[in-house]
Amino acid sequence: MRVEGDDWSRLGDDAERVAHFMGNRAYLRMAEGRCAALAERRAEDGAREWWCTIYEKRPRVCRDLGRGSPECEAERELKGGRAAG
Ligand code: SF4
Repeated sequence: MRVEGDDWSRLGDDAERVAHFMGNRAYLRMAEGRCAALAERRAEDGAREWWCTIYEKRPRVCRDLGRGSPECEAERELKGGRAAG
């Protein structure tokens, strides 16, 4: 998914970790088939959950996603009330 110039600026030190340039456009990186910003952790009940490590400064395209969008597993988890940003 696209990362615009203002997104890149907002990401700050996280930009290189979660996004990369292809030509003159930047996109979110993928790692093992998932967004590189996703991380796994254990919930209080011991269940496995995924969360967005840059949720507060996520790119505009992520903010525009509808809840439950297949493009973002973290959004899907959030809909289920499990993951947090
Ligand atoms: S909201 Fe989803 S797609 Fe966007 S950066 Fe976070 S994990 Fe990646």
